[in-house]
Amino acid sequence: MARDLDSFPRVPLAHLPTPLEPMPRLGAALGGPPLWVKRDDATGLAFGGNKTRKLEYLMAEARAAGADTVITAGVVQSNHVRQTAAAAAKLGMGCHLVLLTGRVPDTEADYEATGNILLDRLLGASVEFHPFDRVDRNVVLPEVAETLRANGRNPFIIPYGGSNVTGTLGCVRAAREVAAQAEAQGVEFQAAVFASGSAGTQAGFLAGFRLYAPEIRAIGIDIEAEPERLRGDVIALASDLAETLEADLGDIEALAHVESGYAGASYGAVTDGMRAAVELAARQEALILDPVYSGKAMAGLIGMVRAGAFDPGRPVLFIHTGGTPALFAYREAFG
Ligand SMILES: *Cc1c(COP(=O)(O)O)cnc(C)c1O
Repeated sequence: MARDLDSFPRVPLAHLPTPLEPMPRLGAALGGPPLWVKRDDATGLAFGGNKTRKLEYLMAEARAAGADTVITAGVVQSNHVRQTAAAAAKLGMGCHLVLLTGRVPDTEADYEATGNILLDRLLGASVEFHPFDRVDRNVVLPEVAETLRANGRNPFIIPYGGSNVTGTLGCVRAAREVAAQAEAQGVEFQAAVFASGSAGTQAGFLAGFRLYAPEIRAIGIDIEAEPERLRGDVIALASDLAETLEADLGDIEALAHVESGYAGASYGAVTDGMRAAVELAARQEALILDPVYSGKAMAGLIGMVRAGAFDPGRPVLFIHTGGTPALFAYREAFG
């Protein structure tokens, strides 16, 4: 028997449960299986998103360590970074951010000025910039922590994307929430489709569905054009989760389903498929997606429906992981 999820320390930060809703117009427009959406864009903390679920567990760990400041890193338009800044503000902790520039090619001027970066500053975080291709990702955060310690602070490092075992517990919890809502609403999903980047979300859903709704397949859409790296990370993280949860998750390799071909050339690149998916979701369901994650995940769902990848008689769940503020940093892509 698995260890109880509620036995791990957690600080409530999200509006939960997030809604689980049908998308009848989008389903009809695509002519495939019935489609539903899990609104994890609506977790509520400073425009929400999936990282808030991870931060409920990570911030509990930071507090237990007696930290007065949290540090994390990401791209300039990182949703994870923005939600970390928000969690710190809400809990009265300092927040220092390392933002990596140049990761996304051909960005417009708005990229460095609005969307998530505007919110990071508004939330009171301090920010330093480093070029993505000249920084050692594994060294920069410990170095920043050292500097803060020398200045008398007690910092706590939140990993990239919040994707260690602690953060991923929040995604297991999301899967448990979906399982409970699906049962209450009498809907039997065959699969859940979502954007997958730093592997935590996918590892958490893989484990959570295995434990609470084993008939639901977790399908991660690669958004970084690195499907092999991603799949390896999902398997490693899910294996660590199995140990932490003291649970038998079965054949993790077989369950780690990464769908590729929707990222474009690289992380954050604008693609025609993403643009079409963002417009379709907006016009059919008034569902506002983002250009980096959920828009590409929706492009993946559309592609899979059109390719006949699903049983047309059983519903499929799209998990909207958030990211909406980044839309405003990609104005020209939708002009
Ligand atoms: C971070 C993020 C994801 C991916 O979650 P991972 O756990 O990093 O794979 C998906 N969607 C949005 C909007 C995100 O910000």
